[in-house]
Amino acid sequence: MKLYALKGIHADEPRVSLTPTGAKRLSNLGIAVCVPPDLGVTCGWTDADYSLAGATVTADGPGDADVVIGLEGPTPDQVASIARGALYIGYLDPFSAESAIDGMVARGVNAIAMELIPRTTLAQKMDALSSQTNLAGYAAVLLGANHLPQILPMMMTPAGTLKPARVFVIGVGVAGLQAIATAKRLGARVDAFDTRPAVEEQVKSLGAKFVKVDLGETGETKDGYAVELTEEQRAREVEAIASVIAESDLVITTAQVFGRRAPVIVTDAMLQRMRPGSVVVDGAVDSGGNVEGIEMGQIARRHGVTLVGLPHLSRQVPVHASEMYTANLANLIEHFWDKEAGAIRLDHDDEIMGGCLVAHNGELCSDLIRKHRENR
Ligand code: NAD
Repeated sequence: MKLYALKGIHADEPRVSLTPTGAKRLSNLGIAVCVPPDLGVTCGWTDADYSLAGATVTADGPGDADVVIGLEGPTPDQVASIARGALYIGYLDPFSAESAIDGMVARGVNAIAMELIPRTTLAQKMDALSSQTNLAGYAAVLLGANHLPQILPMMMTPAGTLKPARVFVIGVGVAGLQAIATAKRLGARVDAFDTRPAVEEQVKSLGAKFVKVDLGETGETKDGYAVELTEEQRAREVEAIASVIAESDLVITTAQVFGRRAPVIVTDAMLQRMRPGSVVVDGAVDSGGNVEGIEMGQIARRHGVTLVGLPHLSRQVPVHASEMYTANLANLIEHFWDKEAGAIRLDHDDEIMGGCLVAHNGELCSDLIRKHRENR
């Protein structure tokens, strides 16, 4: 079996879909691994590193590969370059990137969406959403701290005592928990809020304060995702957290509702109440943003507040982000590896494969995507 690792489709994408270590792991399964020249250059890995790991460095493209791996995408050109019957594995943006998925169905390319790996204990080792958002939570705090005109920890010096910065984390899933832990390690005073009541204990166990808001019934899906709030609940949330935002030096938002646009939580009026020099890092900018009017890809100043709207915050730490993504992919491939056939089992009846396989034998086979399209 031959596997080809595509380069990222965005010019500013420093992460890669395959590290030399990952290439070695896959080669050890008996897979012929091929990578394009300079694949790992943004992370400091040379073509020689890939060759040493057993990969072939070739500019030939994915044409005759049985498995093609990537990060985001694929673009229409990339779909056209993948062989009929081959398997593509990567982030597919399954609820928005309709044309890429339909293009693969039409071409008879099979496809696995890394975003749809079920959030179960067994699938944790393949869960790329978790591994990337975990790093994003860490990067959000460091980015925010770098834009703050003050330090995070309390400092007692002969010249006087500096108070700890106040950090407010909104949305406490994987990214939010890591943001809290990172801000606490740096000595900040941390408040946090989430609509899922189950989060309160987790916030407290990290030494942060949970901001309690009475929203009535909120709940979560069987996968642990938040249920979208009603308009009335959203209004109550906004009112209740406005004063905490006004008192915070650094606000980090990571609130998401699976398969939907991120909720707008930090309004322009709230920014006006913040102290000049404060910072807001919008960790949900990829899905529309939690900050009203946030500009994707920009670091801007509004009402004296620095707004950080950089996409995919795990790009800030591309070496570890690539290592974790590659490990997730390799774990997935190893889990479904059929040694005798020398191929990946695309078993619809398996809970994990059934969840993430979206195109197979020329058909759209994801119930989640079908339902999402019907409910639009
Ligand atoms: P996510 O990225 O979908 O959302 C981030 C957070 O935003 C969530 O905690 C959500 O409750 C919160 N949120 C949504 N709307 C909000 C609003 N209006 N205001 C404030 N907060 C809001 O979440 P995630 O990080 O992907 O985690 C989702 C769930 O999956 C969690 O319960 C997590 O523990 C669980 N999980 C389980 C596994 C596993 O068992 N293998 C792995 C990863 C995550």
